[in-house]
Amino acid sequence: MELPEDKKRYYLSLKKGYEGESMFDQQIEEKLHNNCYVLNDLLLQFNNTTFQIDTVLIFGNMLRPFEVKNYEGDYYYENDKIYSSSGREIGNPLNQLAKTESLFRNLIHSHGFSLPMSANVVFINPEFSLYQAPLNKPFIFHSQLNRFFNQLNEQPSKLTDMHKQLANKLASLHLNESPFQQLPTYRYDMLKKGIICATCRSFALVFVGRNCVCKECGHVENARAAILRSIWEYKLLFPDRKVTTVNIHDWCQIIDSKKRIKRVLDEHFEIVGVRQWAYYV
Ligand SMILES: [Zn+2]
Repeated sequence: MELPEDKKRYYLSLKKGYEGESMFDQQIEEKLHNNCYVLNDLLLQFNNTTFQIDTVLIFGNMLRPFEVKNYEGDYYYENDKIYSSSGREIGNPLNQLAKTESLFRNLIHSHGFSLPMSANVVFINPEFSLYQAPLNKPFIFHSQLNRFFNQLNEQPSKLTDMHKQLANKLASLHLNESPFQQLPTYRYDMLKKGIICATCRSFALVFVGRNCVCKECGHVENARAAILRSIWEYKLLFPDRKVTTVNIHDWCQIIDSKKRIKRVLDEHFEIVGVRQWAYYV
């Protein structure tokens, strides 16, 4: 469906943030070779306050939480605030970082762990500039990442049982349901039906032989795999709607044969009930 403007902006900013986090994860994987535990995208709670940490590295003598920002373009720093080149103020990630750091410190203390901590904001986008950035702030810019990882690689880091316990504890404290999550309202009848291309997300799929072929990008996917993918999308979007052959047939649109859909359902899901009351779980 077409999202309202504000939801679209929100969605695009989430997507950009997510892409930034993925870029940082990739840099860590490629460039960090020292002994450490890496925890991504932790959602934690302390004192009834929920907070999120993009990445935590656990080294032998140091805990390093990171806040990753994927801003792009020219910005400037003035009186502890950050503005875009057009003068629009954006939140200073240092405020967020200070809050997160304090909650995180208290959380690990409350579980009996103690390690020095050093937190940073990473501006991951190579197309980002921050004029008048003070020297003494814990910012890491894209052009500094190689040197930063080299420094991390050179420091001695010996991991013990305690570090492993801490990593496991943090993983076990991770919350799955985010209170920050804001889904746009949607109903079945509001959404465009049809299988979408696994590669380019277009609806321009045709069913040829045993395959679904994308008219936009040429991607070919086995029809059974495409149907199964659509069933999972349907289940995710509509956890309260019944999974039946008729419903999935309507959801997929381009598959003429209900039998073909039933075969995929039979193969991957369990049928409950009989005849017209039957559905899959
Ligand atoms: Zn495609």
